[in-house]
Amino acid sequence: MNTEFEVAEALKQIALDEEIKAYILQHPPLYHSLLQAALRFIGGETLAQCAETAKSVNQQGTAVTIDYMGESTRDTGMAEQATQEFLGVIQTIVDRNLDSSVSLDLSHIGMVIDTELGYKNACILAKAAHDVGLEMMISMEGIDRTSLILEIHQRLCETFDNVGITLQAYLHRTPTDLENVLQLPGKIRLVKGAYAAPAHLAKFRGAELDKSYRQLMERLLMSGHPCSIATHDPALLDPVPLEFAHKFIQEQGIEQDTIEFEMLKGVTPERLQTMKNHGYRTRVYLPYGREWHLYLCNRLAEHPPNLYRAIADAAKYKYGR
Ligand SMILES: Cc1cc2nc3c(=O)[nH]c(=O)nc-3n(C[C@H](O)[C@H](O)[C@H](O)COP(=O)(O)OP(=O)(O)OC[C@H]3O[C@@H](n4cnc5c(N)ncnc54)[C@H](O)[C@@H]3O)c2cc1C
Repeated sequence: MNTEFEVAEALKQIALDEEIKAYILQHPPLYHSLLQAALRFIGGETLAQCAETAKSVNQQGTAVTIDYMGESTRDTGMAEQATQEFLGVIQTIVDRNLDSSVSLDLSHIGMVIDTELGYKNACILAKAAHDVGLEMMISMEGIDRTSLILEIHQRLCETFDNVGITLQAYLHRTPTDLENVLQLPGKIRLVKGAYAAPAHLAKFRGAELDKSYRQLMERLLMSGHPCSIATHDPALLDPVPLEFAHKFIQEQGIEQDTIEFEMLKGVTPERLQTMKNHGYRTRVYLPYGREWHLYLCNRLAEHPPNLYRAIADAAKYKYGR
């Protein structure tokens, strides 16, 4: 096992450690140092800051999706508060005339407290988004939640046509899940998968996972279903001399209108620009809030050299430069 792999796996465990997260939130000097590292990847701590970031991304011709960060809410009041905040996100998108969708984790709005609470809050948000012509994207969480998230998504699709879902290529079950969600309305966002998962259920990063991603991407693109190819992988997007996804789309004569390329804020913006230059719709995932612990750890885990940058960013808060 090489050191980088071990660091990545450790960071994925730390990402899910709620005690560490609570400790950081309760200790302002630590919180503010690490916030400097997180700011590279997030839209801000508040909705107002995030709306400003969104506006400037939109001005460069790229759409965004705004997520009020948080997951695994254990308290009903906090799940209701998160739902209200997401209603504020939808209203802000309308008021500021942003080119944006809304993204969320179902566990943030109550799914792990009670399935029906999660479903009810998701319905409230899907309806509010639908009424103003917005799309709502559901993120995919840890493997223990996959089935529940897909069930709730399916129920939402019985009433709404504006609710999309994220699928993780690293899970062995995903080819079957993809066939099921292709029967439903709403965008399908394909990602590799960020959470720690056991080997009998998921593939590790590497050639085998890249092959699965490519196969799922081909199936998705060929289906003509609205989709988001959400990866920064240069082998999938940008190998010399021709980009794999772009070449495949051109060879197969697939209409570009249903396809978008989506990347995370602060991660390889030049690759998103390349896809934009090819004429595709592009989108930046823009999370905001104080609950950035899991998100920051996952960004460091998937590219451990980011740790150097994070340490330098965090140190600036205390020592300046
Ligand atoms: C829009 C969007 C939504 C997502 N939603 C979810 C979700 O709901 N659930 C979930 O589990 N995961 C989600 N993810 C994360 C995803 O699963 C991957 O962990 C993440 O995108 C990195 O995988 P990759 O496809 O870029 O490929 P990788 O193989 O991880 O990376 C390929 C190359 O991209 C570059 N790169 C990738 N990540 C970074 C980084 N952090 N910093 C610098 N360079 C980097 C490097 O050059 C790397 O070699 C989402 C990702 C995106 C873009």
